[in-house]
Amino acid sequence: MAAQCTATKRNKERCTLPANGPHGLCWAHDPANAEKRRRVASRGGRGKANREVAALKDELKSVITDVRAGDLDRNDAAVMIQGYRALKDLIALERQVKETDELAAEIEELKREYGVA
Ligand SMILES: [Zn+2]
Repeated sequence: MAAQCTATKRNKERCTLPANGPHGLCWAHDPANAEKRRRVASRGGRGKANREVAALKDELKSVITDVRAGDLDRNDAAVMIQGYRALKDLIALERQVKETDELAAEIEELKREYGVA
């Protein structure tokens, strides 16, 4: 039976995870894993997806502005907006796939760390 982690959680409660490091700490509280945890947390290209969404928003705004100003044919604008909608769906799908893959990888990593793989 593994010893309990001696760290205290943010809510001041004692961590309930089993200690598996040399310091009486669980994987999540072992400072040796802090860098690894940060990498896991920041992984995922969310920045890229957000930039794509921001670019899409800008393009859509300019289409709307052009239609209002009479610089763009309404039918052309409607087709363009359909295209943007398809792009939006693809970005959302891409994000879902990426998040699912990342979660699966993180679960595998945790299973390995806790020796239940
Ligand atoms: Zn802990």
